[in-house]
Amino acid sequence: MSHALVWFRRDLRLSDNPALQAALDAGHVPVPVYIHAPDEEAPWAPGAASRAWLRRSLQALDADLRARGSRLVIRRGDSLSEIEKLIAETRAEALHWNRLYEPASIARDTRIKQGLKSRGLVVESHNAALLAEPWTVQTGQGAPYRVFTPFWKNVRPRLSVLPVPAAPARLPAPPVDLLSFDADDLGLAPPANEPRWDEGFWAHWQPGEAGAAELLDAFLEGAAHGYKEQRNYPDRIATSKLSPHLHFGEVSPRAVVSAVLARDWPAAVKPDIEHFLSELGWREFSHHLLFHFPHTAQDNLNPRFEDFDWADPDPRLLEAWRRGRTGVPIVDAGMRELWATGWMHNRVRMVVASFLTKNLRCHWRHGADWFWDTLVDADLANNTQGWQWTAGTGADAAPYFRIFSPVAQAEKFDPAGKYVRRWVPELAKLPDSALSAPWEHADLLARLAPAYPRRPVVDLRASREAALAAYSGPKTRP
Ligand code: FAD
Repeated sequence: MSHALVWFRRDLRLSDNPALQAALDAGHVPVPVYIHAPDEEAPWAPGAASRAWLRRSLQALDADLRARGSRLVIRRGDSLSEIEKLIAETRAEALHWNRLYEPASIARDTRIKQGLKSRGLVVESHNAALLAEPWTVQTGQGAPYRVFTPFWKNVRPRLSVLPVPAAPARLPAPPVDLLSFDADDLGLAPPANEPRWDEGFWAHWQPGEAGAAELLDAFLEGAAHGYKEQRNYPDRIATSKLSPHLHFGEVSPRAVVSAVLARDWPAAVKPDIEHFLSELGWREFSHHLLFHFPHTAQDNLNPRFEDFDWADPDPRLLEAWRRGRTGVPIVDAGMRELWATGWMHNRVRMVVASFLTKNLRCHWRHGADWFWDTLVDADLANNTQGWQWTAGTGADAAPYFRIFSPVAQAEKFDPAGKYVRRWVPELAKLPDSALSAPWEHADLLARLAPAYPRRPVVDLRASREAALAAYSGPKTRP
């Protein structure tokens, strides 16, 4: 029988996988391949937390393939050379993959497609990751969108319950003699002689398709009810936590949308469902922006900020932020949740990002880089959009002068201090009334939380005013 290579990248699933399906539909034996080529994604090769996730996700995919009679062939090196070798070894007649949208991936994939097609191979790419690919959505003037609401008005009517192909029950085996590395050989996990900083992650996560399906079911049964309001409270299980699974393609957005829309929701829950869909819409919008404005992973989308007066980052302040030692409890709780679990609640992401870019006036890239390395859901499109939005430099951004008050945010969204107490245990004994701004309760702080910083690394009011002055200063273009 003829073979077709199915090149897995960030579509690490067997259900609703158009590349795999296309190979099967054409009557080929699919040869599932993963190529480890981090240099080709530079400067955005996966960060440390993503790599730790990837290792487990590859293992899960291999186990799922083996349970059906196939297996994952893992190679490392230059993608084109490895594909060429595999074509020669299997006499494959076709190559299928699902599309990626980051600038470096697009450049590589275009090069590979052109090279192989000119040699007569069938090379086909498919959409597995987006509800609406960036080039299919445009304004009335034929331009890309820069504002979310009209973008979503355009995309939302396209969503409907779609057939979502289940994982094939059986798969034909690829040739037995193909060389394959083990996912453990790729250097993805922290080496044995270094601290296993990711060990704590796995009580919170199950990488792979089965873990994604479980979370989706749990969300539909539970947190979907009340999502619109509850999603703001970081101490609650009130969001889907699907972000790393969506990033690695362990579940397709089509499958999520179809599962949501297929249910007959009570009228009271419908606004929650719409809100959830619109968050998936932000994921689409982020990809739309990165595709049309590829420079924004590094540079401001809004040119007004090109010469903005960012402070020279003080390494001690940056380190205090990264390690959750700023003396501002909600910021420290978020940064420690990130370090311990590889994830941070969305509201707290906005708070810590505002603190870094406004109160410490560090360029958003410093924050985006740290998130890139420490988030299991680190995603170039979503991370860029999230940082530029919070910094005020992006599309549809919160205006620069709208500076999150970490004290007010904690009082509103963590009123009983459960989130802060969980992640900053040295504050656990403080009364609720002192938890959001402990420096205003010096005696209590000294007595009940001696290990916590006496005061914030930066004066919140003065730094807010300095940020506003910089914003209206000469270095921000009108
Ligand atoms: P849910 O509330 O259950 O939402 C469902 C899905 O919608 C998410 O899984 C995600 O894919 C998408 N989504 C939700 N909110 C957003 C958003 N604001 N922008 C884009 N997509 C969204 N998200 C990432 O996936 N990767 C990142 O690297 C990332 N970096 C961020 C950085 C900053 C500074 C900020 C403010 C936000 C960032 N986000 C990022 C967006 C958001 O915080 C996460 O997607 C969300 O917290 C994931 O939790 P969830 O899966 O429970 O979300």
